[in-house]
Amino acid sequence: MGQGSGYRCPKCGYRLDVMLGAGFAYPHVYEETVAKMKSGELGEEAKQFFVDHPDGAVNAEYELAVCKECGRYETVPALKLYVPKEGYVHQPAGRWSVAVPAEGVSFVAPWDLEDQYVKVGQLKQHCQSCGGTLKILSERTIARKGLTCPCCGEKLVEEQMFWD
Ligand SMILES: [Zn+2]
Ligand SMILES: [Zn+2]
Repeated sequence: MGQGSGYRCPKCGYRLDVMLGAGFAYPHVYEETVAKMKSGELGEEAKQFFVDHPDGAVNAEYELAVCKECGRYETVPALKLYVPKEGYVHQPAGRWSVAVPAEGVSFVAPWDLEDQYVKVGQLKQHCQSCGGTLKILSERTIARKGLTCPCCGEKLVEEQMFWD
């Protein structure tokens, strides 16, 4: 399930909540993401992907991204693109978990992507504030370098928290 951290700027009070991974809402996030891709809302490349690969899948797990232009942080679905390995046919999952029924929702779980699919690309995403290109930050990068306040440049202080 999802895991989150809260970050706080000790200088100016800026706050950032980062929710990573796949929460209980994942099947719906997945469906929404695919619908947006197919409608063209996420750009031509996204739309074309499902035309070229009707059996393609996407990783919609949340990741932290930073805008290369304005330094703003945004939590976004990763939008990594996958195609099934040869011979694999996806069976729609009946339930996401015992606690949360997700019948009727068609999605590919992140662990299926790892086992049964091959990554073929990743969609570019843009900053909602300035339109700049977003760069996805891996958890390792965040752990190693930490995060910088987009307002004043001070290093953010991490506060643990969890979500589902
Ligand atoms: Zn600050
Ligand atoms: Zn920006």
